[in-house]
Amino acid sequence: MTFTSAETSTHYVPQDLPTHIQHYINGQFVDSVGGTTFDVLDPVSNTNYATAAAGQKEDIDLAVGAAREAFVNGPWPQMKPRERARILNKIADAVEAQEARLAELETFDTGLPITQAKGQALRAAENFRFFADLVVAQFDDAMKVPGSQINYVNRKPIGVAGLITPWNTPFMLESWKLAPALATGNTVVLKPAEFTPLSASLWAQIFKDAGLPDGVFNLVNGLGEEAGDALVKHPDVPLISFTGETTTGQTIFRNAAANLKGLSMELGGKSPCVVFADADLDAAIDSALFGVFSLNGERCTAGSRILVERAIYDEFCEKFAARARNIVVGDPHDPKTEVGALVHPEHYEKVAKYVEIGKTEGRLLAGGGRPENMPAGLNNSNYIAPTVFADVAPDARIFQEEIFGPVVAITPFENEDEALALANNTRYGLAAYIWTQNLTRAHNFSQNLEAGMVWLNSHNVRDLRTPFGGVKASGLGHEGGYRSIDFYTDQQAVHITLGAVHTPKFGHTPKSGA
Ligand code: NAD
Repeated sequence: MTFTSAETSTHYVPQDLPTHIQHYINGQFVDSVGGTTFDVLDPVSNTNYATAAAGQKEDIDLAVGAAREAFVNGPWPQMKPRERARILNKIADAVEAQEARLAELETFDTGLPITQAKGQALRAAENFRFFADLVVAQFDDAMKVPGSQINYVNRKPIGVAGLITPWNTPFMLESWKLAPALATGNTVVLKPAEFTPLSASLWAQIFKDAGLPDGVFNLVNGLGEEAGDALVKHPDVPLISFTGETTTGQTIFRNAAANLKGLSMELGGKSPCVVFADADLDAAIDSALFGVFSLNGERCTAGSRILVERAIYDEFCEKFAARARNIVVGDPHDPKTEVGALVHPEHYEKVAKYVEIGKTEGRLLAGGGRPENMPAGLNNSNYIAPTVFADVAPDARIFQEEIFGPVVAITPFENEDEALALANNTRYGLAAYIWTQNLTRAHNFSQNLEAGMVWLNSHNVRDLRTPFGGVKASGLGHEGGYRSIDFYTDQQAVHITLGAVHTPKFGHTPKSGA
């Protein structure tokens, strides 16, 4: 990578930013074979600060070749879990030690508020520690059939895992896939999102310093339709773990069919936050605000549809909107900022379009476009004021479609049955949040929700052991804890005969007339 020093600007620019971002293949930083690049911009100034190597099929071939060689002939898959765990813990130490740097780069590249980017680096480190612990503690089933058989499970890494990630929390989401894939002895090719390639290249040095053998981790930057597509179609990549939009997931599903790959799909969401009249209203409002406006609303599990029982509907809307109007929108690097800049002008245009659609579909209570009174120089950045629409009908586009920005639809309900029907009335099924003091209702309502994850009286706070994933158009398969170990390993069953086996003797009886 090549670096430059900080420039004077209207907003914070980290020191020593790279001006060119490369691939990392077989322990070396390299450009694309054909020299192709793409521009990378920061979402506050919307100017290009770097070029990145744009991987093509031949670059993916090289990366997969290196990963395959490291899998077949390298030490990594054969190492004892404890040896791998030591390296994973060193990686976690390094991520923690670089937390401030990681956070400022992530903030600069994504537009996420710095206070929220800091949590991402620590969570990334925790993912490595967690899977280091898990593979050391891992044991598998052995089954005995008295006097006749012992069966045991021989758990094996699968091979080269293709990891394809989105831009919303890049480094953390990469760790989510890298940690279990590596812990279980696979080798990997990571294809990060093209909007935000900056932090991914930090993995290379972190892994090298921690002692990960060359070829085990490979990184190819590039566009989804080029580098991502080549990775999905590569015959030597038996696994694809993908996080991104539902429509991209569908394309990948089709493209992976020819080689029958293992697929893990973490896709989009339009999650309901259901507030009953008996809820602790202040806590529900705090949580619902954070649930939809944190990470700039660019959050797969955002509670972007708030369903409120009629008896408290007006009070909820009034208090919620007043707080939304008060949210601090600004330079992502400023610790006071609560909502930063959306990741890219293209995404800004998409969210801004939904805001305009919302004005025809709901009652605008807060926001509705660019925030007012932004500091000079930030007027053209990708800022959208936290936007609240009330009285949104269930067939409205802003009720049904994932916006992935700081925009929320509020809808009233009369009773529990209607709340459930509204909650389940989208094609998505990722998360759901329920606010009620009635425990019986909370549990029964959860059971009937079409959602992969439910939080009762809370926003998204997740123990790493629990399954993560969605149903319906929100995903296929669950990762998290042992489910990630299962995805990245094959469970070979070995059957040992202890006694005499009853074997029908084919061909033993002479044929009649022979
Ligand atoms: P995206 O689908 O546009 O891109 C995700 C990744 O896929 C990128 O790396 C992209 O380059 C790659 N890609 C695009 N087309 C491809 C193709 N044809 N073949 C292979 N790879 C391809 O998603 P995004 O805009 O980066 O991220 C936002 C989406 O991600 C939202 O829908 C959000 O809900 C979802 N998301 C889901 C989760 C979850 O865990 N369920 C978490 C975070 C984000």
